Amino acid sequence: MAAFQQRRSIIKGDEVGPCYSCGTTVAFGGVKDQGFVFCNKQCHVRKAHFLRDIAAVPDRDATAEAQRIKAGRCHHCGKNGGVDIHRSVFVWSAILITRTQENKLIGCSGCARKKQALDTLGTVALGWWGIPFGLILTPLGLLMNLGQMISSSTKEQPSKYLTQYARERLARSAPRS
Ligand SMILES: [Zn+2]
Ligand SMILES: [Zn+2]
Repeated sequence: MAAFQQRRSIIKGDEVGPCYSCGTTVAFGGVKDQGFVFCNKQCHVRKAHFLRDIAAVPDRDATAEAQRIKAGRCHHCGKNGGVDIHRSVFVWSAILITRTQENKLIGCSGCARKKQALDTLGTVALGWWGIPFGLILTPLGLLMNLGQMISSSTKEQPSKYLTQYARERLARSAPRS
């Protein structure tokens, strides 16, 4: 779901990612629209309708839908409440290569904490062993996970990611005009 507007981050911004139309990884360039990434114009055109539908969803509706999801049931553990899109990064290295994988989880804060803790432990174990990026990206990844854990357990309002997700969901279910 490379569907969120965000400033480009050092680790892995949402502006870099799979093409929203065909799923191909877009490393550089590509076409960007409303926070979505496409590998080229053809892929962009293919989703133009949907992008228009998304833009047409009123902010008020998107926020209301996000609040509904937030208060709803967690798909992972079946408990109610606190559902949001929680994020974490996993960094691993093998001598000359260092990879960062950004994970998103839709679920309650309890399930998010488990996933974030797992990614943090994995990063501590596997992140450092790359020169030079392992040494740079591992502490960044750990800091980011720490920040995410804090915001996941304290935020009461739906995150902007959840609001964007809600907007997409409404756009998908809206009747075509
Ligand atoms: Zn594409
Ligand atoms: Zn849960």
